[in-house]
Amino acid sequence: KFNNISDMFQTQVGRFGNKKYILFQDKTYTYSQANKLINQIAAKLLDIGLKTGERVGILLENSPEFILSFFAVMKAGGIAVPINTFFKEEEIAYILNDCEARFLFSSSQFAGEIKNMQKLVQSLDNILTFEDFELENGEKTLNIYNELSNMDDSDFPANQSLDDTAILIYTSGTTGYPKGAILSHKNLLSNVDGCARAFKIARKDRFLLFLPMFHSYAFTTCVMLPTYCGCSIIILSSVLELRKKSFKNILIFKRPTFFLGVPQVYSALTKSKMPQWFIKFIYPVKIHVSGGAPLPEETLNNFVEKFKKPIIEGYGLSEASPVVSVNRLDWQKPYSVGRPLPDVEVKVVDEEEEEVPVGEVGELIVKGPNVMKGYWKMQEATYNTIRNGWLFTGDMAKVDEDGFIYIVDRKKDLIIVKGINVYPRQIEELLYAFENVEAAAVIGIKDKVSGEVPIAYVMPKEGETIDTHEIREYLKKHLANFKLPRHIYVKDELPMTATGKVLKRKLKEQIKDSVK
Ligand code: ATP
Repeated sequence: KFNNISDMFQTQVGRFGNKKYILFQDKTYTYSQANKLINQIAAKLLDIGLKTGERVGILLENSPEFILSFFAVMKAGGIAVPINTFFKEEEIAYILNDCEARFLFSSSQFAGEIKNMQKLVQSLDNILTFEDFELENGEKTLNIYNELSNMDDSDFPANQSLDDTAILIYTSGTTGYPKGAILSHKNLLSNVDGCARAFKIARKDRFLLFLPMFHSYAFTTCVMLPTYCGCSIIILSSVLELRKKSFKNILIFKRPTFFLGVPQVYSALTKSKMPQWFIKFIYPVKIHVSGGAPLPEETLNNFVEKFKKPIIEGYGLSEASPVVSVNRLDWQKPYSVGRPLPDVEVKVVDEEEEEVPVGEVGELIVKGPNVMKGYWKMQEATYNTIRNGWLFTGDMAKVDEDGFIYIVDRKKDLIIVKGINVYPRQIEELLYAFENVEAAAVIGIKDKVSGEVPIAYVMPKEGETIDTHEIREYLKKHLANFKLPRHIYVKDELPMTATGKVLKRKLKEQIKDSVK
């Protein structure tokens, strides 16, 4: 029902102009105030030469400016490229070079990372900041806020069509180099429309945004979705804010109702010292959603015991804008990632791409208006991922007779021991059952006799120790011998992605290096 993302935003401004749109620290922006700034920033982008379809990087921490920059790029007809704020100089340059970005929104928080960026990225004409900031070579960045007094804040239409590209979302690279998923205006708008219907979001809902905005999960469900529904967004600069004392004040005074997190966050919330009376009488959140990574049974059970509310699990991947399925408030099954969004179809197929019977495990494939156009400049990877309109997710799953999806594991993470499939997640779930285990990961390593064998990594909770002998005895009781990890390594830190998934690629590299 909208022509493009700017059209959607403009419509919301018309309907909810004076409503609070963004709340961040002690700042508040109404829909109208945000709109005026967006118009001005967009006008500035056009003024400095942005042409339709050109890429604009956004390397910003969670902030109102991230949202303003994004909608300004939309209005000016550009393509937004959010960048992982955990990335180092080289990784950022890789992405900006890959998409040949002409402009980059950033801030002094990334002084070290961006100081040489214009040297490393030929196409980069300008770095735009929301403050006075000098790069190390003495060059000044363009302070947008200084420029705005000269720019007109009135509305102007954006001309993109629904099939035009809106955003490149680079996957976080759990399994390889980041690839830019090309998402159109239609991809994003259809995905938020599906979520709005599935979650029955009301205008009075207030979303708590603490996951990193550059990631497709937070971007779609905590920026686009609340905007699409005319809701307010309460921004926390990072997930660490949930641990601070001030979080209680946010719960009391800003009263978020909608909480979208990842499994790690739920495990931390359960361990927090929030007293029962507070949870019962004051805690304002009505809906908790988990996605982005598998939710261990243990985490789910502990959370429900403390908060007396379910966690609604959903599933998605950047290539699907990203939401594929969610549980509904009125119909949910524990351990399932729910049913597909309206308009989204799924199938489970075998190696020959034939559909398997209900309840059997195979690769999950997805079709719908949320499926990306392809990977940026990667024809072969695109062909390997989308065939006949079906997106091959690389996730092993089963679907029950009611259409509920259960993610079993990632296909790439499967370990094949003497020709038999071993799903690391089954072993990881057992490891999570240990009270002192904060995070666990199981990967396969090459073995002369068995082809591959599993090895396990466990990270202890802060200040705790782990007895690997005890773990081994426990695993022996629950697992067939061929599934038993050959080694169990205790590590104080495991490499993680933004959504709290262990970067297994890094673990595999480390183990290869140590064998050399
Ligand atoms: P890359 O694709 O480069 O490995 P990535 O894993 O970070 O990067 P994302 O799009 O962020 O890419 O993650 C999508 C993946 O996350 C899914 O394919 C799936 O494996 C996993 N995932 C997401 N939600 C869930 C869930 N609820 N349960 C299990 N796995 C999930």
